[in-house]
Amino acid sequence: MASRNTTLKLATCMVMLSAAGWAGCVALPNGGTESDLRVSAVSRKSWQAQEAKPRGADPGQYVFRKEPVRYVTIHHTESDPRNLIGQKTGDEQLRAEEASLRAVQRFHIEQGYGDIAYHFLIGPSGTLYEGRNVGVTPASGTVYATESVWKPRENHFPDSGQLAVEGNGAKPGAVEGHLTICLLGDFRSSGEGKETPEYSPTTAAQETLVNTVARLLHVYHLTPDDVLVHREVANTSCPGEGLYRLVRGEQRYPGGSGSLMKEVWRQYSAESSNRSQWSNEALP
Ligand SMILES: [Zn+2]
Repeated sequence: MASRNTTLKLATCMVMLSAAGWAGCVALPNGGTESDLRVSAVSRKSWQAQEAKPRGADPGQYVFRKEPVRYVTIHHTESDPRNLIGQKTGDEQLRAEEASLRAVQRFHIEQGYGDIAYHFLIGPSGTLYEGRNVGVTPASGTVYATESVWKPRENHFPDSGQLAVEGNGAKPGAVEGHLTICLLGDFRSSGEGKETPEYSPTTAAQETLVNTVARLLHVYHLTPDDVLVHREVANTSCPGEGLYRLVRGEQRYPGGSGSLMKEVWRQYSAESSNRSQWSNEALP
């Protein structure tokens, strides 16, 4: 297991995992190895996840992928941040995050999702957590639009989160190509149906998000242009204005790069010399 630590790229994560006396790695799809990802996630077992319940899932909410991953999509749980951050430090913080994950999973299974909706989750501590099987499509309470609907600028309304999806090219299979990363917390502004002040992810969570996205782009042979936020493909405020601004900046989608996407681009470009090596590895 010592070799696992050599694969860790997330300094924050490594510190937190060491503090917890535990270092586990997420299982990659398609026979990939941990070194392909080079980020380490706290396993489902470690955060005491329930077993997935695919047989109890609603149609379309727990389906094994038939097509490759094409997009990495960013979300928030809309969990009250007061339950997640504040006075907590160290192990107490990690226990709070694990409890939050279990609550989210419980809720999602009750919704008929068969498991927690997202493939990866990130806590305010900057810890990355393993979510649902990456070989399974994400679950969602929203209808994802097909690319022909969300890509044209005229169909896109990021400020309000209002995307004309219903009856406008949406189809159940549109969610299939997405791999989802979700930050624990609520990053909506007060103008998005929230009473508490606008709130942004912690620096640690932002760093983990960037590192994870950058690695996943390499693993799945994608580019930063394939990174989306939920509100860009469905009628939702997710992941809240606070996180959306960090991803897109003021220019917004398409083309907008906030501080987070600038860093994703930087990491992605810095590793471009390794890209031929990555593309030669067997990740069908
Ligand atoms: Zn979302």
